[in-house]
Amino acid sequence: MAKQFDVAVIGAGAAGMMCAAVAAQQGKRVVLIDHAAKLAEKIRISGGGRCNFTNINATPQNFLSENPHFCKSALSRYTPQDFLALVKKYRIGYHEKHKGQQFCNESAEQIIDMLKDECAAGGVHWRMPCKIDNVVQQEDGGFVLQTDSGDIETASIVIATGGLSIPKIGATDFAYRIAKQFDLMMVEPRPALVPLTFDPASWAPFAELSGIALEVDVETGSLKGRKATGARFREDLLFTHRGLSGPAILQISSYWLPGEPIVVNLLPEVDVAQTLIEGKGTLKKQLGNIVAQWLPQRLADCLLAVNGLAPDARIADMPDALLRKLGQAINAWSIVPNGSEGYRKAEVTRGGIDTRELSQQTMMANKVPGLYFIGESVDVTGWLGGYNFQWAWASGVAAGIALQ
Ligand code: FAD
Repeated sequence: MAKQFDVAVIGAGAAGMMCAAVAAQQGKRVVLIDHAAKLAEKIRISGGGRCNFTNINATPQNFLSENPHFCKSALSRYTPQDFLALVKKYRIGYHEKHKGQQFCNESAEQIIDMLKDECAAGGVHWRMPCKIDNVVQQEDGGFVLQTDSGDIETASIVIATGGLSIPKIGATDFAYRIAKQFDLMMVEPRPALVPLTFDPASWAPFAELSGIALEVDVETGSLKGRKATGARFREDLLFTHRGLSGPAILQISSYWLPGEPIVVNLLPEVDVAQTLIEGKGTLKKQLGNIVAQWLPQRLADCLLAVNGLAPDARIADMPDALLRKLGQAINAWSIVPNGSEGYRKAEVTRGGIDTRELSQQTMMANKVPGLYFIGESVDVTGWLGGYNFQWAWASGVAAGIALQ
């Protein structure tokens, strides 16, 4: 029997709008459904309101997944240059900020308007706000969506409801519930790109450093061998009252596993122990003054105090072992977070629908023809810097083209 729609895309965020537009422009009858009253809040608040909409250096190496190969197909078929071409077509001014990150000159609203126009060009139908109570599969393989504004019959459904990050702007576990309903495996979701927190008692001496930012190297996990599970980043770190934040920490948080330490090099360009030991004869200043030349004063004072070192000590009088201890504290500060700021602050959710359940070409569930998952709902998580939107666009296009 002919259905009302060929495709219902659930979730009118980044991936959902892109997918709906592509499918509709190919002649499909598409309905785009979202429970929120306000369209695409995450795009609106992204990149500080200017939307870091892609990264021109994006490669599969910038994504985490239990299967790092899964994202390759979609990413290679819809590249950052393809999205830039769309941005140029709409005459949206943009600029590069840092390490390939592309931002709107004016406002993230321009990206939302562009996607809305692309949907309009294909004649996409909208149901918004609209709450879906049940998804029922019919005997002919199609689906009925039971909603608060009536039933919607469709041949295929695309789940584009994202992850769990920032519940106050509408994130839900809808995708995971659908996965459970259709017996699809999941990779456990975790907050990612998120500030890390520390036990309040051990953090007390550092809490007063809140507001200090500096460029560091940070790493976690094993970086060696073919099965390397860790990562290292050079980015800015920010001290907060409860722990650490800033791009360096957000990046490493996606790789960090509870119970493991993160190791921070607070002064990547200086081998502190070697410089102090070799400088015993020539560096005439007091220890506190030497360290404060390298690091912000408050941080230098704190590190000396925490390590039981007197700022007025003369390095010529200090045993090498003590200077090595200080070197370790600055160049390899190893600390174990007690958790993160959670989904309230996380930019993304790591984990999601297990990619073994999906076709990397089409994003369709292998054992449920007509059911697709795209965007952040899938176990593909990008680094900070425009990669997550690139995955949303690329996976949305892959499904949009493939929809039967
Ligand atoms: P979303 O964009 O989250 O869209 C999901 C949609 O589904 C929403 O509209 C939601 O209302 C809807 N929905 C949810 N549950 C239901 C339900 N039960 N029924 C119906 N609809 C539902 N990434 C970058 O690449 N660059 C950035 O600059 C950037 N900045 C960010 C800043 C912040 C503060 C945050 C939180 C994230 C940022 N991200 C950024 C990440 C990026 O926003 C997401 O990875 C991306 O939006 C995911 O796209 P998506 O379409 O899968 O999900």
